[in-house]
Amino acid sequence: MIKKGMKLYSMLFGACPKCHQESMYIEKNPYKLSDTLKMHERCSHCNTKYQMEPSFFYGSMYVSYGVGIAFAVVAFVISYLMFESSLIMAFIAIVITLIGFMPIIMRVSRNIWINLFMSYDKTKVKK
Ligand SMILES: [Zn+2]
Repeated sequence: MIKKGMKLYSMLFGACPKCHQESMYIEKNPYKLSDTLKMHERCSHCNTKYQMEPSFFYGSMYVSYGVGIAFAVVAFVISYLMFESSLIMAFIAIVITLIGFMPIIMRVSRNIWINLFMSYDKTKVKK
């Protein structure tokens, strides 16, 4: 389904956007909150520098807005339409979802952001 070489692979799993050979993140588990956003400086396979310019990843905040909305919509649909909860309960469900998934939302946003600027490059894979 989702394989190396697809943009989606890097976006979902945080793999290096150029070679998809390793994770950009030092800590695999995003819920280790002190390390959620700690990244390697360069890919050890293709030597791609992740932070292309200073504060490059601040731009990912625009993306996280969109990703947050997507999670909120899912939370709303599940609680309001499937469980027929009240609007207040649906709202609470959204807030809990956004807080609970925050580390994932932040990482996925970074992954999407960097993938807007870099693409998979087959020639980088073998080295
Ligand atoms: Zn790489």
